[in-house]
Amino acid sequence: MKQSISILILLLTLSCSAQKPSKKTTPALPVTVDIEALIGQMTIEEKVGQMTQINLDVVCEGGIYKLVEPHHIEDAKLQEAITKWHVGSVLNCGGHAYPLTQWHTIIGEIQRVATTQGRLKIPILYGIDAIHGANYMMGGTLFPQQLGQAATFNPELVKKAAAITAYETRAAGIPWNFSPVLDVGRNPNWSRFFETYGEDPLVCSIMGRACVQGYQGSGSYEKGGRPDATHVAACMKHFLGYSGARTGKDRTPAIISDIELRQIYMPSFQAAINEGAMSVMINSGEINGIPVHANPAILTQLLRNEMGFEGMAVTDWEDVMKLHQIHKVTANNKESVKAAVDAGIDMCMVPNDYEFARHLIELVKEGKITEARLNESVRRILVMKRDLGLFNNAMPPALKDFPDFASTKHQQAAREAAEESITLLKNDGVLPLSKTSKVLLCGPAGNSLTLINGAWTRTWQGTDNKYEDNSRHTIFEALQVLNSNVTFSEGSTLDSLSNVDEAVAKARTSDVIVVCLSELPSTEKPGDIEDLRMPDAQRELVKRLSKTGKPIVLVLVENRPRIIHDIVPLCSAVVMAYQPGDLGSDALARILVGDVNPSGKLPFTYPAHEQSLLTYDHKFSETLDPKFGNTAYAPEWPFGFGLSYANLTYGAAKLSATELKENGSITVNVTVTNNGAMDARETVLLFTRDHVASITPSVKKLRKFDKQLIKAGTTASYSFTLTASDLTFINKELKNVTEAGAFDIIIGDQVSTIQYVP
Ligand code: BGC
Repeated sequence: MKQSISILILLLTLSCSAQKPSKKTTPALPVTVDIEALIGQMTIEEKVGQMTQINLDVVCEGGIYKLVEPHHIEDAKLQEAITKWHVGSVLNCGGHAYPLTQWHTIIGEIQRVATTQGRLKIPILYGIDAIHGANYMMGGTLFPQQLGQAATFNPELVKKAAAITAYETRAAGIPWNFSPVLDVGRNPNWSRFFETYGEDPLVCSIMGRACVQGYQGSGSYEKGGRPDATHVAACMKHFLGYSGARTGKDRTPAIISDIELRQIYMPSFQAAINEGAMSVMINSGEINGIPVHANPAILTQLLRNEMGFEGMAVTDWEDVMKLHQIHKVTANNKESVKAAVDAGIDMCMVPNDYEFARHLIELVKEGKITEARLNESVRRILVMKRDLGLFNNAMPPALKDFPDFASTKHQQAAREAAEESITLLKNDGVLPLSKTSKVLLCGPAGNSLTLINGAWTRTWQGTDNKYEDNSRHTIFEALQVLNSNVTFSEGSTLDSLSNVDEAVAKARTSDVIVVCLSELPSTEKPGDIEDLRMPDAQRELVKRLSKTGKPIVLVLVENRPRIIHDIVPLCSAVVMAYQPGDLGSDALARILVGDVNPSGKLPFTYPAHEQSLLTYDHKFSETLDPKFGNTAYAPEWPFGFGLSYANLTYGAAKLSATELKENGSITVNVTVTNNGAMDARETVLLFTRDHVASITPSVKKLRKFDKQLIKAGTTASYSFTLTASDLTFINKELKNVTEAGAFDIIIGDQVSTIQYVP
């Protein structure tokens, strides 16, 4: 029996690899591999191997993080991984991006050995972080980071960006992407704030769902369906509450009540699960004293039993061993393995040795973990491999099947996403700039490609400028294309003034100053900061320039909202660029000169002060000030804020009724008129406010949003349907409920009150 099944798989593999590459990319063939029969043949070692994920460095020549250049597979190491440890998955990029051809060599070699020399010929599941485009493929299209994508308030753009990312990732032969981040950005200190879709659970849910559709294939993909050969498996991360760290420092403790966990942190994951997200990565941190990797209440009861997730759960980097080494909840690494497997992980991103495998084999042989438990995880891993078509053909595709890799079409999509993300926060009329005005451009982000892209750009931290693609424009270069009268003088690096006198002198002879402030790209631990203020030197640059009396346009290129309260009054305009990606400078330049009308809106609250990091959905008690007035919530700019060059006026909101019955609905209609001469895009946000509730209500909650193009001189109609399910909150029984009573419906500064009468 055993032998016949391996022969079946071998034949399947051989017949597929013998196929000529098709002319155009075709969907994966239906696969007939019998997962149960395969599991039935596997030894304990082989099952544990499937649950083991190693870093590419482990099989390359050189030491871990010290690979020999150019990176290449070392045969003996790969043999050991496949034939001795039966490894099921490999991740990452050896520390930097490769051209597609090098990816093909690497992936091809790994898959060839796995599917010819592995006893059961099981293909490898290769995973990578394609966080804002195919960032580990040289030349891969780079989109705005997730925070910028959220600012578009346009889920179609997010879906398109994800579909392109999937295509370009699959072009390298990689079928699994560790994205999207569905952590809700509640603390702007957090080094991964830019990786989130912002502070609101609804925005995170809608954008996260769109991203999963884009990765896994919209239209053709349904729950239980399969991504085709141009799509990838999504990996929602990091389950759960990772972004809730109290201090904002990465991987530090979060204290989160059960209500908050469900109200704020769960919805984005639930939305992605409902969309069929194929995998999940676990939060490296702890919640209420329990590291999530060792918490069955979160990884099994909540994720599987309650939220209905059927896909595969991978740990984060080294997090099983950290249960002992950092968190100190286990006495040794072996106990850590038991705790994590008992909690519910399927695959361990070990990733730099085989210790996980060694301990897990022992634990099963000692009867401390059952083989049935291994089978559960192995089944999920093999199903994922099957659904990705890997048993059909795990080899990298022919390059000619991916003609659109980094194509002009893809670049244009990246520019459009950046154009819809960039958010105008202040404008006293200085913008748009005349194309003939004399512009002085200053600041560290004014002439840098590294800063506009952020972390996860060709390398983990994205700071190695040797990967900059000189065919792309810095802000200076992009502005020069549209206005030949632009000069650049840096004035300040990220943390110290540099030739500031020269910048000030040039400013005196200019019509307008554009200052691009920034911070060093970073993510995870390296991105922890001690001070949320924009570094002193950069604020000082603005102060010095302001003494010239020339109007200042402040452009922000940042990982998170750095506090700029003292310099905002010195600026005539403020533009939030986020980290808009490789085409972001072109997008920004087009906005600055008025070729494109800005339409981004903040997906977070921009704080004015470090001690007031409130989100828009704060509680009423948080508005109380020291004089017992209600002014304590006074951010620099509120969530959802963003100006247009057009003069947009909102008509009166019209409600179809003022009483909502249990199974009924109310329609809210509002018009927006574009009185200007430029086309505009406008997002209408609908919030509700619960007058009285059994759990202290938020001052408001976002319930709906819609973005439309409004041609110059025309009026657009927006229509929202509200049911009781749009007025819910989590009560003390942890149920999502709507309580009877009055609710405000808030659109802009219009407030209408309805009664919910169940
Ligand atoms: C990060 C994850 C990432 C993983 C693999 C971890 O350190 O937290 O988000 O997917 O590394 O690179």
